[in-house]
Amino acid sequence: MDNIISKLPNVGTTIFTTIGQLALQHNAVNLSQGFPNFPPDPALLHLVDEALQLDYNQYAPMQGSKALRETLSEKTEQLYGKYYHPDTEITITSGATQAIFTTIAAFVNPGDEVIILRPAYDCYEPAIELFGGKVVPVDLVGKDFEVDWEALKSAVGANTRMLIINNPHNPTGKLWAEADMQKFQEILSGTNVILLSDEVYEHIVFDGKPHLSVSKYLDLASRSFITSSFGKTFHITGWKIGYVVAPKELMKEFHKVHQYNVFSVFRPAQYALNQYLKNHDHYLELGSFYQQKRDYFLEAIKTSKFTVKPSGGTYFQLLGYDQISEENDMELALRLIKEYQLASIPISVFCGPSYNQRYLRFCFGKTEEVLDKAAEILIRIQ
Ligand code: PMP
Ligand code: GLN
Repeated sequence: MDNIISKLPNVGTTIFTTIGQLALQHNAVNLSQGFPNFPPDPALLHLVDEALQLDYNQYAPMQGSKALRETLSEKTEQLYGKYYHPDTEITITSGATQAIFTTIAAFVNPGDEVIILRPAYDCYEPAIELFGGKVVPVDLVGKDFEVDWEALKSAVGANTRMLIINNPHNPTGKLWAEADMQKFQEILSGTNVILLSDEVYEHIVFDGKPHLSVSKYLDLASRSFITSSFGKTFHITGWKIGYVVAPKELMKEFHKVHQYNVFSVFRPAQYALNQYLKNHDHYLELGSFYQQKRDYFLEAIKTSKFTVKPSGGTYFQLLGYDQISEENDMELALRLIKEYQLASIPISVFCGPSYNQRYLRFCFGKTEEVLDKAAEILIRIQ
């Protein structure tokens, strides 16, 4: 075929695939793509076996297993004080990626503007463009990647259909505080903007600070899809299973797309996750589990020349290399793989053309053995 008209002419292969392949080729210590290198809890795996034997092997209901939706309704209410009806306001999805894609598919029409905050996770833009939407980027500013509230306010206009946020934030590890949530709510108040809140790292928050879900804020919740990922919470990124909550009028439109896209997702996992979620410690202790890894990693690299501001959430740590090199981050990331056998993610791929800071993203969701190996290399880089 020589007459293929691409719907996404500017889209190439994702950075995670590109860097992942290079890491393999060079046998590099891989702190690039975000995934744990340790197994999930055997009890969770056992529950999947049980599901298979109990014959949870046929289609789940379109919205997902009812029992799991009921458990998630209770969990959300307990954590954030907001009730979502399990029948009409909660849907199990094939990872957060599908929740994001389906939300965009259901609501973005040609010409609609969708605001994203850059650096932005990489699956937002292509989906917006696929449905004819116009991406309106608002850059997070300065060394701390703060929201420029004035810029955000002026980006919201009559054509804004949707706004996408991600908190805790990949790749910066930023966590929104109460004052941020209040300012944000004010900006959207009185508008018809749909909010897509990507909260896949909701349980990975550090230093005693809470995750502030948009579901806690009445006005925000009334306009929001909120997505979470079991992949992040239970160390099972390969299962590709997550969920999304939204008020029922919004979810009704989501289902119109969902039912003809995936219909429903892997049934045995839904049984297993529902049983596993009954013990709340399985997610409530995740923050301290990863904080210990963050601290271990930061302690191990404290004599390196990289600069550090401890991550506030997620399993990512940005390391600044102002004192090491003037290369751009892609150049340095490639060189570190080839010369030092260490793989990281250059965050410029999540940013706009004017981005010119010097950071690499490292995933510390790894065993101490791997973190030690990475630290030993990082200390050597001068
Ligand atoms: N959003 C963000 C910010 C992520 O980091 C990820 C993880 N890859 C996703 C969405 C997608 O999650 P999932 O693997 O459940 O599709
Ligand atoms: N969310 C993961 C990360 O940021 C990557 C997932 C993927 O490869 N699509 O590293």
